[in-house]
Amino acid sequence: MAEILVLAEHADGEVKKVTYELITLARRFGEPAVVWTGPGAEEGQPGCAEFGAARVYVAGDTRFDDYVVTPTAELLAQLVREKAPALVLVAGTAEGKEIAARLAIKTGSGLLTDAVDLTPGPDGSPVAEQSIFGGATIVHSRVTRGTPIVAMRPHAVSMEENFAGAKITGRVVAERGERPDLTEATIVVSGGRGTGGAEGFGIIEQLADALGAAVGASRAVTDAGWYPHQFQVGQTGKTVSPQLYMAIGISGAIQHRAGMQTSKTIVAINKDPEAPIFELADFGVVGDLFKVVPQLLDEIAKRK
Ligand SMILES: Cc1cc2nc3c(=O)[nH]c(=O)nc-3n(C[C@H](O)[C@H](O)[C@H](O)COP(=O)(O)OP(=O)(O)OC[C@H]3O[C@@H](n4cnc5c(N)ncnc54)[C@H](O)[C@@H]3O)c2cc1C
Repeated sequence: MAEILVLAEHADGEVKKVTYELITLARRFGEPAVVWTGPGAEEGQPGCAEFGAARVYVAGDTRFDDYVVTPTAELLAQLVREKAPALVLVAGTAEGKEIAARLAIKTGSGLLTDAVDLTPGPDGSPVAEQSIFGGATIVHSRVTRGTPIVAMRPHAVSMEENFAGAKITGRVVAERGERPDLTEATIVVSGGRGTGGAEGFGIIEQLADALGAAVGASRAVTDAGWYPHQFQVGQTGKTVSPQLYMAIGISGAIQHRAGMQTSKTIVAINKDPEAPIFELADFGVVGDLFKVVPQLLDEIAKRK
């Protein structure tokens, strides 16, 4: 059976959910083989095996943690040359995409990024589904040269001494408290200019916490400094695809939609019945968010 390389994403000893998604996807095409860089493989392996990884290639050198992307791209290139996998899967994070691009150059292969689905084509080769032009068009693409490399949107030796590129000189822990990671969360509650300010935005956090959700924001909010930029959803922010996306006081501009329209279920709360977000929403509430959200919080509290 063909081997499918899956690059593991992990941090602070924890395997990121996207790794399991990639392993699950890999099983459609062959035998998943996880590529693990840096320490922590021993703790991470059982989880990967549970999702169907047939083996884990470990490059446990701590230097993988100290450099940005170059060693990982070189490691994958070596594995592509030695193992001739049918497909390489990486997470469509900023780091994952850069590794994938470098790997494509090193191996003379085709790369598909921001795939939202991957299915076998008539000849069994992977066909990626991508949502482009701000989500207005869905395209299906296939790699025609080399080993297909695919960076999937969220939701795997020996090392040579040729480390190059930028060195990580310090790490800053993202400020997100106990909330799930925005790009990995099952539920995202996002607030827009309708919240009226940093204080008003607090109600978005309250709802997110009641639902165990991540907090997102429109660019109007982050540009105004009401909430940090790392939480911006949209064309120039994060792309999310949760099971449930709640857009509260957000008009639904095309640039915002580009980052959330592949969400499974979209709920909008807006006082303007003509707001474009309602064209996209599965469920909509027309009303003042400061009246609707407290009622929602009461209902959630009753059910707990
Ligand atoms: C190149 C470019 C890139 C961009 N990238 C992004 C991006 O990544 N992400 C992004 O979000 N935007 C992006 N934008 C900006 C985008 O065009 C919009 O300006 C922005 O999304 C608007 O944010 P908003 O919906 O919060 O604000 P508004 O458009 O002002 O909408 C506020 C909404 O809140 C509603 N409202 C007001 N008060 C209440 C209330 N009390 N209760 C309920 N509803 C209420 C209003 O009816 C309105 O629909 C980009 C723009 C450009 C040009």
